[in-house]
Amino acid sequence: MSYMPGVCTFCGTGCGHYLKVDGTSVQGVFPSRVHPVSKGRLCVRGWNIHELLSTQERIIRPYVKDSGQVSYKDAIAKLVSALSLYKPEEIAFYASPRSSNEDNFALMKLARLVFKTNNISLQAESGHRNSLDVLYNGTGFAGMLGSLEDIRKAEVLIVAGMDITTQNPIIGSELHYAARSGSLLITIDSRMTKIAKLSKKFINCKPGTMRMVFDAIAYYIDKQQWGDTKSAHYEEYKKYLATVPFDSIEKETGVLPAEVAFVAERLIKAKSAAVFFSSGISGLSYDTVASIYNLFALAGKIGKEGCGVNPIAGINNLQGSFDMGCAPDLLTGYQSIDDATSKKKFEKKWGQELPTFKGKTVEQLLSDSSSPLKALVIVDHDDGIVKYADRLKSLPFVAYIGAFTNKVVDFAHVVLPITTYIETDGTFTNTERRVQLASQKCAPAFDVMPMWKLIDAIAEAKSIPFNYKSASDVMDEIASLTPAYEGISYTLLSKKHGVQWPCTKKNHDGTKYCVPEKVSFVLPHKPYAAVQATQEYPYLLMLGKAQHYWHQNNIMHKTFIPLREYNATLLLYPDGYVAIAPEDAKQIGVRDRWPVKVVAEKASMKAMVMISDDVAPGTAYVPYFIREGIASFLLAYSDIVSQGEEATIPVRIEKV
Ligand code: SF4
Repeated sequence: MSYMPGVCTFCGTGCGHYLKVDGTSVQGVFPSRVHPVSKGRLCVRGWNIHELLSTQERIIRPYVKDSGQVSYKDAIAKLVSALSLYKPEEIAFYASPRSSNEDNFALMKLARLVFKTNNISLQAESGHRNSLDVLYNGTGFAGMLGSLEDIRKAEVLIVAGMDITTQNPIIGSELHYAARSGSLLITIDSRMTKIAKLSKKFINCKPGTMRMVFDAIAYYIDKQQWGDTKSAHYEEYKKYLATVPFDSIEKETGVLPAEVAFVAERLIKAKSAAVFFSSGISGLSYDTVASIYNLFALAGKIGKEGCGVNPIAGINNLQGSFDMGCAPDLLTGYQSIDDATSKKKFEKKWGQELPTFKGKTVEQLLSDSSSPLKALVIVDHDDGIVKYADRLKSLPFVAYIGAFTNKVVDFAHVVLPITTYIETDGTFTNTERRVQLASQKCAPAFDVMPMWKLIDAIAEAKSIPFNYKSASDVMDEIASLTPAYEGISYTLLSKKHGVQWPCTKKNHDGTKYCVPEKVSFVLPHKPYAAVQATQEYPYLLMLGKAQHYWHQNNIMHKTFIPLREYNATLLLYPDGYVAIAPEDAKQIGVRDRWPVKVVAEKASMKAMVMISDDVAPGTAYVPYFIREGIASFLLAYSDIVSQGEEATIPVRIEKV
């Protein structure tokens, strides 16, 4: 029995833990007291990660649909011969934000170098991509500007539209600690979340109006001439701010002008301030992130200790997966594939030309029935992709690479098993750009390969071997091609609890908070478009997450205690629930746990009423974790659901 250090691979916080390992079995998990992020804490998910790692629901043999269980050699040969039938535009790779940096880098290289396609993307990407685009356009850094370690140094902390205590509980705990120690914690949201209850000030805005609220705060600062106007594009930004309907802000957003003034004054007076908002599958739109970022640029809260514009990734390696170039237009470290110098650098290193056609995301290819997609390789995915079941069934070839069984496996012509993260070395980059090494803790429980090695074997079958001897070799190649990772190596990481990029050869300590050479205001793409309730659909429905059921079910299904909590919710509300205010329940004529029908223009769903003071009158809330109950409803509104935390659907609620 030994206690091995590692990193929790559930969410983007990246907490440090010790796993109690006996042979190939993980018997328990303990928090690391010296870890700089988690400081001896784990959330309910992290405390139960050993259950996931010990699950029997593993994929243990390669499988080919017409032949059954086969050797790796045969399965790889089948995959290679199937993919070789199609043009690069007809092939796509669906990378996983849970895979390690090494695994995702190898997959990106396989897609671009071996199969010559730029069709590679991540699940859960839209929200985080919006955040990265805004931050890159504004500062040149495509990642969280601040640091989790700095939370306690911020005088003002703002949480925008996210229940951080549910999504990233240890960050929520850190914010709570800071608030108890004197920081001013403000939550701006359309629902009274747990973090809102722990905040000193809760600003309740109408669903879908958060962008306008942040713009109104900036408008107020600018009008008082308190802002930092030195940043680039200030004049254009000022013109944009002139469009903010400040005189009718209460009517538009539900937020009082005095509340806007309160936040503006506190933000300007504070020496340090940081903002946190959801990223990933429930992220914010580009324009909302731009409004949040611009306010902080105007308030002079960028590039200083205790400051930061901080998108919080829900999934453990979402940031790292983008860093590894798992996007149609990106190489590693946010280097554009359209940038001739970057592309040439990769071509020189890899000895072949890279594809030039504009790639598409897998979601774009699956949702467009006229797209040329014929062959899809899916890595370690949740059940969410099953919403495209009909399209998946119609594809001539689907391959699945993963450690655990799930519904996606049923669509695959070839299934290739891989190790779990404790059975191989790998690095994960958390939401604050911290690259952490999770070393191998035990031999694989089954005769399965690590993904980086499997990808190399596939490349070798196409006569373009990558020649990796270890995961460390992969990281060395990443470092050689990626300026932000330049100084990172397994030797360095084995001595530290991770290092935050940029980490150069000269600066091995990494970068706690990003100091841009130049700060620019980021102009929005679209005009305001808040969804309005109507007489027919008088309630604004919001969608959200829950702590015990998360990662779109696949992973949490395999951990007993979170599953027990979820089942306890279902005991009370077997059809799932819609939370409404007591006044609205009275008006509809329903009591707690009564069945209702939630009707929208394009779809309806059954649910049970949860009467709650946490939602304002005229609004309703459904946690989208009860996917089975509301799947068809969500599918009908997938365009709106993809707006994440801002998704707002007008509905009526009928007693049944
Ligand atoms: S907060 Fe996230 S990383 Fe930390 S223990 Fe919980 S799930 Fe794991």
